[in-house]
Amino acid sequence: MRSEPRPHAGMEHFPVRDNVLQVAGQPLTAIAQQVGQTPFYVYDRQLISDRIGQLRAALPPRIQLHYAIKANPMAGLVQFISPLVDGLDIASLGEMRLALQTPTRAGNISFAGPGKSNEELEAAVAAGVVINIESDGEMQRLAAISDRLDRRAQITIRVNPDFEVKGSGMKMGGGPRPFGVDSEKVPALIAAISNTNLDLLGFHIYWGSQNLCAEHIVEAQEMTFALASQLSRHCSHPIRLLNIGGGLGIPYFPGEQRLNLQQVGDGMAQILDRYPEFAATNIVMELGRYMVGEAGLYVCEVLERKESRGETFLVTNGGLHHHLAVSGNFGQIIRKNYPVCIGNRVKDSTTERAIIVGPLCTPLDILADKIELPRARPGDLVVVYQSGAYGLSASPQEFLSHPRAKEILL
Ligand SMILES: *Cc1c(COP(=O)(O)O)cnc(C)c1O
Repeated sequence: MRSEPRPHAGMEHFPVRDNVLQVAGQPLTAIAQQVGQTPFYVYDRQLISDRIGQLRAALPPRIQLHYAIKANPMAGLVQFISPLVDGLDIASLGEMRLALQTPTRAGNISFAGPGKSNEELEAAVAAGVVINIESDGEMQRLAAISDRLDRRAQITIRVNPDFEVKGSGMKMGGGPRPFGVDSEKVPALIAAISNTNLDLLGFHIYWGSQNLCAEHIVEAQEMTFALASQLSRHCSHPIRLLNIGGGLGIPYFPGEQRLNLQQVGDGMAQILDRYPEFAATNIVMELGRYMVGEAGLYVCEVLERKESRGETFLVTNGGLHHHLAVSGNFGQIIRKNYPVCIGNRVKDSTTERAIIVGPLCTPLDILADKIELPRARPGDLVVVYQSGAYGLSASPQEFLSHPRAKEILL
């Protein structure tokens, strides 16, 4: 990967007019007034639909796209995405309720997650949602529920693959995992399922997230198809559904380069050609971050400027309680600065080095550490780019009982 500095990944999506950042053609200052408070998240519909269009253009047409709701469960956003994609992926009863309120058919909703309660399984069976089985125990509970409700539950087996993928920001497969059934145990599980009334559609193989390297992604998908092929020999029928995960990442930090989507698409086309046995199988790619991550900004306000022993602090009303990831505490190993700007004076030529912090009484509450920015004053808007995924819903809003952030979809 090239180490060209890229201090403002995502900045290209939001033009600047009269020194003010524009979102969906509106000045950020006007949006702040419309929302009526800071902090808030703002999401741009057009950027989301553009991104889904790019995915459709680059990937082989027979790959179906699902949106993973956990990346951003804002109800309006989920409603907006539903008709643009082929299905939704959920991981809880709450997400199921959201998904079932959209036009997406229940049969195109799939339910993953290692700790599904009986209540959740019952609701999924009753609604006709596809359930990704994560363990033998879950399969047995589901079979009992399926008998009791007299409804044949549609399932896939979520497989914990026997490979790990290079370059994934977050690994979800390979080695010992709480997710999925170890691939070597899958044949026995398939045999056990054949003695139940569960309808096994196929497999769900998910190996990780936030990968920026097309070559590694294609390699992982090669191994995914090889594994699916090997496991499907244990099924009595050809498999009807293969969910191959996704893992496509977005650039956050200096030096990170945008994923080459066309290279992923070309690689996928070659893989599909090599597996004619899956010609009639529904192939699903499930993505969260890649669809929405770049379409969102987090906006908070400078309350105070403060000098301390040679450093300038900008104390804001926003912080890790709304945006855990920007503080570096959402699974990151080393804290790096997200791209940020001062939204109402983006191009001021008088700059300074500042540490942007939140109001919480913890040294973890950092939005940007020692970053060169236009000199900001109280009332100015601090903007964090690349905040459309794993933002508000992935943050401890209750911590310290500050006001909640709002969300707006433009
Ligand atoms: C979180 C998750 C996703 C979405 O991951 P992204 O990196 O946001 O694309 C997809 N599938 C499963 C099973 C997940 O748990």
